[in-house]
Amino acid sequence: MKCRHCGAELVLPLIDLGSAPPSNAYLTEQTLHAPEKYFPLRVLACTECWLVQTEDYAGADELFSADYAYFSSFSTTWLKHAEQYVTDMVQRFSLDATSHIVEVAANDGYLLQYAKARGIPCLGVEPTTSTANAARAKGIEIVEEFFGVRLARDLVIQGKQADLTAANNVLAHVPDINDFVAGFATLLKPTGVSTFEFPHLLRLVSENQFDTIYHEHYSYLSLTAVKRIFEHNGLSVFDVEELPTHGGSLRVYAQRADLGVRVASPNVAAILAREAAAGMASAEFYAGFQTRANQVKNDFLVFLIEAKRAGKTVAGYGAAAKGNTLLNYAGVRPDLFPYVVDRNPAKQEKFLPGCRIPIVAEAHLKRTRPDYVVILPWNLRGEVMEQLAYIREWGGQFVTAVPNIKIA
Ligand SMILES: [Zn+2]
Repeated sequence: MKCRHCGAELVLPLIDLGSAPPSNAYLTEQTLHAPEKYFPLRVLACTECWLVQTEDYAGADELFSADYAYFSSFSTTWLKHAEQYVTDMVQRFSLDATSHIVEVAANDGYLLQYAKARGIPCLGVEPTTSTANAARAKGIEIVEEFFGVRLARDLVIQGKQADLTAANNVLAHVPDINDFVAGFATLLKPTGVSTFEFPHLLRLVSENQFDTIYHEHYSYLSLTAVKRIFEHNGLSVFDVEELPTHGGSLRVYAQRADLGVRVASPNVAAILAREAAAGMASAEFYAGFQTRANQVKNDFLVFLIEAKRAGKTVAGYGAAAKGNTLLNYAGVRPDLFPYVVDRNPAKQEKFLPGCRIPIVAEAHLKRTRPDYVVILPWNLRGEVMEQLAYIREWGGQFVTAVPNIKIA
């Protein structure tokens, strides 16, 4: 396979997670009786531009099926993050009723609702019908398409150039990263700003976050790779911040390479230097990840088996992609992990793909009173522990598996 950005042949493996169904291909009572489609889940690093990427097997159309059911507004932490983002951007870039904000991957309007509340005209781009409809219900205008140069040109023709574009947790989800990035360079006004948030590859590798790897995630990004990809597609990076979200993310600020006048903040050089010091532009950095991931997987299995032998009961919380990667890679089935609770009614009564673990409403947890609740989205550990604090009443404990098994 050739690199999605630079076209070099990919030869350096990061990790091989076997094969798994697409992480959002939830099953129903009916589809439980049908075969599932599995795709190899293997990640490679480009030794030319250091873009880390999933080996290409499935097309975007097949992965982002109509059943794709992730609604951003189900996480209160994420909503707070979005509201703070809008507050910060309005202040920093002096946005007002004459400005225009475009969010790509606007999901259910979790972020743009705060722009709208401030009277700032905004537009969302969201190819998933169910979430797009939820955003429209909040009064937000949505274009239901995939983003790239073609759509950006259409929007410019319609007079919808942007003072600010937001793209949170989507840069890693696009198969054609060059066309996607070039779309922002096309859409921005001369003085406009594009921000991108994505999980930081430095944290992913150093903290064993192998469960953040899944098919819908085409790229795993360092600032080193992003800066290069942006420069090749008409954007220049002028600032970067580290965020605690999703196990450690970067927020990159970019402007048009041709007309942008902002001076680069020292943060850019500082993070590039840290990545260089960690060896992210050398093969050594990527070696050893598989061994560490296997250790995490094995420790998780040992926990489940020992709990079972001790007569303890286990439940899961959070039927999201992370959990699917971990459970499928570990080969866990309902005998060891009987159910997973999720607050999203669209997921309840369904089954996790591959491992076929049933997804249930929270009431089930209160009824069965398990000894352990495994928080699959470990990045929301604090939030979930607060929400489910009542499990302490029956002596319940919380468990997270990444970066290593933790029982509290
Ligand atoms: Zn490359």
